[in-house]
Amino acid sequence: MAAPSVGSRAAALVERAERLFPGGVNSPVRAFRAVDRPPLVLERGRGPFVWDADGRRYIDYIGAWGPAILGHAHPRVIAAITAAAANGLALGATGPLEVELGESIREAMPSIERLRFTSSGTEAAMSALRVARAATGRDLIVKFAGAYHGHADGLLVEAGSGIATLAIAGSAGVPGAIAATSVVLPHNDAAAVSAAFARHAGRIAAVIVEPVVANSGVIAPAPGFLEHLREATTADGALLVFDEVITGFRLGRGGAQARFGVQPDLTILGKVIGGGMPIGAYGGRADAMGLVAPAGPVYQAGTLAGHPLSMAAGLATLAELTPDRYVALEATAKTLAAGLAEAATRAESPVSLARVGPLLTVFFLEPAPTSGAAALQADRAAYARFFGAMLDRGILIPPSQFEAWFPSLAHGPAEIEATIDAARHAMEAAAQ
Ligand code: PMP
Repeated sequence: MAAPSVGSRAAALVERAERLFPGGVNSPVRAFRAVDRPPLVLERGRGPFVWDADGRRYIDYIGAWGPAILGHAHPRVIAAITAAAANGLALGATGPLEVELGESIREAMPSIERLRFTSSGTEAAMSALRVARAATGRDLIVKFAGAYHGHADGLLVEAGSGIATLAIAGSAGVPGAIAATSVVLPHNDAAAVSAAFARHAGRIAAVIVEPVVANSGVIAPAPGFLEHLREATTADGALLVFDEVITGFRLGRGGAQARFGVQPDLTILGKVIGGGMPIGAYGGRADAMGLVAPAGPVYQAGTLAGHPLSMAAGLATLAELTPDRYVALEATAKTLAAGLAEAATRAESPVSLARVGPLLTVFFLEPAPTSGAAALQADRAAYARFFGAMLDRGILIPPSQFEAWFPSLAHGPAEIEATIDAARHAMEAAAQ
């Protein structure tokens, strides 16, 4: 399972991609730069496995970066997409599948009284904040360092995911005036939140938060933190926005808001609700969502929003996600995390296992970080060695210390055991 050798089909494709796309990719973390390996060219996925362009098979924990909760190419999802495609692709009007998926989401997340579908999580986050600003007549947005909410201008300030992976503080090309509308606070720091509301009283439109951070690696909310956000926003007349692009329908059907019992005003969704097809959604309180055009003055639109194939894949995926499946998924993640922790202990690696439900991260850092800033202290070189040793044994983990692992319902005991077995060797390699 070595890196693509010169002359291989994968290597040739990487070379062609590098002549076409910036950094050879259409999304930065795919370049594998943080782990110092040539990028994989993946051609096929089925269940818990993906295959590269040279036919090598890997047990996959990238999971399409979140959507693949059932594993790849689930037969019911493929059948639903095929049936939808036979009726034409985008028809440019409201369709029955949109109504059905919208109702399923609202039923699972009662804080979402009205919602709108977009084509990506980025659009959904950007639009939710536009609604929050319109609803409050205020400009400032509070976000937390190390969170990622997509690549809209104001949200790229001290963000996580690829921004953390590439060790850049933000992004070039964001006007200073727009960056200045974001107030960035340390995650899990309730006192900093109170101080920000004291300083900017009456000027904060919304607090946006990943209720479980997944884009600095997995970071659980400190006890009382989400509750504090709820109280502080309500007291000041600001909106609380949960970015559940990763946690929605992943931590359970009701997402983080059900798991932690805190109701936001607005929620951002993506990934799982589209079953692997392009999607995003934002929704929440009927009064705030009533501001969106054509019901109200906040403009937001999308040629392919509510695309029938995305709706069909989402519906088929959600239909599989019964409460017992979440119990099974969490049990899988728990076994995996325990095995990885044991492998680290054996290798005497300074590693901590962060896990919230089915989401986990192997941090080369002790103790597990409680903020994005703390996560940046992790030993990235050790993670890169671990990644490489796992890949060489046929296990594909996220090519960055700052991304979550996504075990799926297709990962059975054999795959989990093979992963833990590989980790026993890879932890030794990481310690070198
Ligand atoms: N919010 C969160 C929490 C995310 O993890 C992501 C993507 N990883 C986004 C928003 C942006 O979604 P998209 O990539 O679909 O634009």
